[in-house]
Amino acid sequence: MSDEYYKLFVVIHKLAVCHNLIEGVWNHVSFEIPNTKNHILFTPGHTHWDLVNENNITTLDNEGSIIAGENKILPVAWKIHKPIHSINPDYRCLIHIHTPYITSTSIYGEFETRLTQHSSIFHNDVSFFNEYIENIDDTEMYELMAECIKGKRVLFLKNHGAIISGFTLGEAYMATYLLEKACMYQCLTLNQNSTYQLIPESIVIKMKDNFFNNLCEKHFNGFLEYYKNKLT
Ligand SMILES: [Zn+2]
Repeated sequence: MSDEYYKLFVVIHKLAVCHNLIEGVWNHVSFEIPNTKNHILFTPGHTHWDLVNENNITTLDNEGSIIAGENKILPVAWKIHKPIHSINPDYRCLIHIHTPYITSTSIYGEFETRLTQHSSIFHNDVSFFNEYIENIDDTEMYELMAECIKGKRVLFLKNHGAIISGFTLGEAYMATYLLEKACMYQCLTLNQNSTYQLIPESIVIKMKDNFFNNLCEKHFNGFLEYYKNKLT
């Protein structure tokens, strides 16, 4: 089973390249492998996401020591991800990115979840960490970030980007894909309109439930089919 996790971990990096969710060799994904002693897969450091493969992805133990993988991770990846895995253990996958619309929203400082079907899936599930990360060795700050995302799916990092969580690799990927779209529609709306209408909250809650209980897995399987047919 753990081989399947490795394969899927690689695939979401390739899909992210295809969907333009990457920033060269920056950014990182982590996934805590079920039924292990908190072993976590990480994106290898300084490696373009299109070149991520089953040999170079890094597996770390609970203390951050390398168990497997040809490449080391970026040290900041462990500092950001590990406290969040500890505080939100059900969210096994974390994706940290700096895509244009997510980063613009982190600068703006507000995210309206009642604008579109894309944003609805994040209703009551978003936090903002409103302190700019200046000193990457400040361990206390990473603990505060983890506290800030506790119980939530998304954490926007001030003027920086976001961390998106999922119970599974597929769920985290779909949430990341849709968060960038949702932020794009918010940015375009704010740019074009001084006033706008919101979707009623009762409908937003239904759309969110339907997404995670029904659509998410189907959408992700559709992406996997595309990957098998076009990208391999
Ligand atoms: Zn970052």
